[in-house]
Amino acid sequence: MAHLLIVEDESHIADGLKFNLEAEGHEATVVDNGRKAVAYLTDADNDVDLVILDLMLPEMSGFEVARRTRAAGNFVAILMLTAKDETADVIRGLEEGADDYLTKPFRLDELLARVKGLLRRRRWDGVEGEAPGPREIRFGDVCLRLDRFELTSPRGTVNLTTREIGLLRALIDREGEAVTRGELLEEVWGLRPDTKTRVIDSFVVRLRRYIEVDPARPRHIVSVRGHGYRFVK
Ligand code: CA
Repeated sequence: MAHLLIVEDESHIADGLKFNLEAEGHEATVVDNGRKAVAYLTDADNDVDLVILDLMLPEMSGFEVARRTRAAGNFVAILMLTAKDETADVIRGLEEGADDYLTKPFRLDELLARVKGLLRRRRWDGVEGEAPGPREIRFGDVCLRLDRFELTSPRGTVNLTTREIGLLRALIDREGEAVTRGELLEEVWGLRPDTKTRVIDSFVVRLRRYIEVDPARPRHIVSVRGHGYRFVK
């Protein structure tokens, strides 16, 4: 069972989501504006596993909610709902820290599948019938626990989001090779490789804070000028 926060001002959508998520065995809390969402997510007493975040909200947009949540150090999984297939909105949401998105109107089974995918972050490679991959990767002073989405270093332990671990893994899988931003956009975010966005760079900044002894002089995630990034063990 997981605890989901639904941030949605259209009560018929919020109620429908709550009903169906509870039917799946989850706990669901609804808030109807952006300000309340930030207050809820930055209160350490509230343990949320996944946020379903509408972008068009009263008082504060979903973008701002994602930005403030991340700025407060909360890296809970965020699934954002965009009003229409506005690529600019999708990109901005991902840059502010959302992990996945769904376009309104969405089908319920599709939303439930995304929720399941994001919640699977705690059991990486847990797809039945598939041979499990390595559960633990060590480099420098870092230990990455893939099954727990957990990264430990002398700087502390962090829970990575689906995209953070996806990006790190995509780079590690091609250790020593320069990987282009386009390849990463396609592989990790499912976006077209020619999408104009700085999402990769902002995620790399985040990852470097976790894994590099000195993020200003990265040793593990190295920039390859005009190309992308290369992972070095
Ligand atoms: Ca709305």
